[in-house]
Amino acid sequence: MNQIQTMPSRFRNPIGKFTVHRAENCAQCGKCAAVCPHGVHAKGGDKMLRPRSHLCAGLACARAADGCVLQCPARALSVEINPVFQALGDYRWTGDLILSTWHQAATGQLPYMEMENDCGASGGGLDRIRILLPEKTSGISPDQVDLRLNLNRRGDGRPEVVIDLPIYGGGMSFGSISQNTMAARARNAEAWNTFTCTGEGGYPEALYPYDRHVITQVATGLFGVREETIQRVRMVEFKYAQGAKPGLGGHLLGDKVTAAVARMRESVAGNALFSPFPFHSVYSIEDHKKHVDWIKHVNPRALVSAKVSTPADVEMVAVGSYYAGAHVIHLDGSYGGTGAAPEIAKKNIAMPIDYAINKTHRFLAQEGIREKIVLIASGGLRTVHDIFKAIALGADGVVIGTAEIVALECLRCKNCESGRGCSRGIASTDPELAALFTADWAFQRLYNLYASFAAQLRGLLAACGLTRVTELTGRTDLLTHLDYQREQK
Ligand code: SF4
Ligand code: SF4
Repeated sequence: MNQIQTMPSRFRNPIGKFTVHRAENCAQCGKCAAVCPHGVHAKGGDKMLRPRSHLCAGLACARAADGCVLQCPARALSVEINPVFQALGDYRWTGDLILSTWHQAATGQLPYMEMENDCGASGGGLDRIRILLPEKTSGISPDQVDLRLNLNRRGDGRPEVVIDLPIYGGGMSFGSISQNTMAARARNAEAWNTFTCTGEGGYPEALYPYDRHVITQVATGLFGVREETIQRVRMVEFKYAQGAKPGLGGHLLGDKVTAAVARMRESVAGNALFSPFPFHSVYSIEDHKKHVDWIKHVNPRALVSAKVSTPADVEMVAVGSYYAGAHVIHLDGSYGGTGAAPEIAKKNIAMPIDYAINKTHRFLAQEGIREKIVLIASGGLRTVHDIFKAIALGADGVVIGTAEIVALECLRCKNCESGRGCSRGIASTDPELAALFTADWAFQRLYNLYASFAAQLRGLLAACGLTRVTELTGRTDLLTHLDYQREQK
């Protein structure tokens, strides 16, 4: 039975937000070890060990009257912000959000440290939207909240596919990430009865035990796409575009095309691989329908998802996909993507997901088909607050990608595509780098993160008086925008 288990950092010296210094005048009395509730200080024999700074709760705790700094009779302790922390992240994925995600992946809990867990510092998009929690308690316990989501609402005779929480893992190909990372994501998807997506790079054998929880992707390069792989799964995703780089297709540089990747993609090791944009077989909704019909013919039980980026007429695309026969419209807004997506593309091409979701949700409702199609959103969703906001804006569920990678201790260094790939072994197919962690370690980190996300989402829904996540869709009254608040003053 899967359960939360502490799964510590891979860093020899884990990175924390704070750094605790013990000066040379320390008398080795051990008082700090007695007062600190977080185990920062400990004695080894008759000597104090080096402070475990990553466990420090923060400046307020350290400097409180009963905190270690003031309790130390020798005044030998000082606490400050860790300069390594200050160098981490960017405005969207701040150092706080990275460390918070690491902590959740390590423990299954939100951090007790002074840390922002909910919002980034971009000053725009979801970072300017806040959740309006009712002042009165609802009387609903988080345990009563049902997070299940049915991915087939068409009533078309295909199976209903119900996932246990409205979150699944986004497409990342074998080639862009290691097989260890893929296998861990798939095992986690099985543990939570949800899905993970292969991306466009074939279907490694390591995923076979998890077929029921894998979405296989069909994209423009058709790498690794075979009838046999389409028949393995319960959901097939057409990737028409990615929000992080619409119009650019995909590019796997030669150094990452190892012999194993080349074999999977039926290519040659060392040759760069390019997935063009767009599908040159699809220039109309009728063409799109032929695609959907092809999958439905090859696998009569599979659901079909259409992943699109967010152009200005995204709502028309969604309606067209419904009439073409898709079960799921997956809107992928800007801001997501790994280091493989150029920064200029991530920030400047697709519509931010917060606009796209609500526009599409309302248009589908006007057209009378909202109840028949599942709307999934992705594109830089980092936290449970982001997930709540996306659903309240009109999505039924969300896809996360980067948050899973961060759970594996991605540093957001954006070198995923350079040379042999990620120095942390996450986004690399180099055998030496990919062996830097085990699939067991990665699975437990992902499991813990999902446990924390599920608990937080249940808590927020219960606080809002909702007993089912499906009741949250379109509840924009539970959100407020900081710009709008300013105008009201
Ligand atoms: S309380 Fe101060 S003097 Fe005593 S062990 Fe801790 S740092 Fe050293
Ligand atoms: S740590 Fe790895 S996965 Fe994360 S951004 Fe750097 S290269 Fe990419």
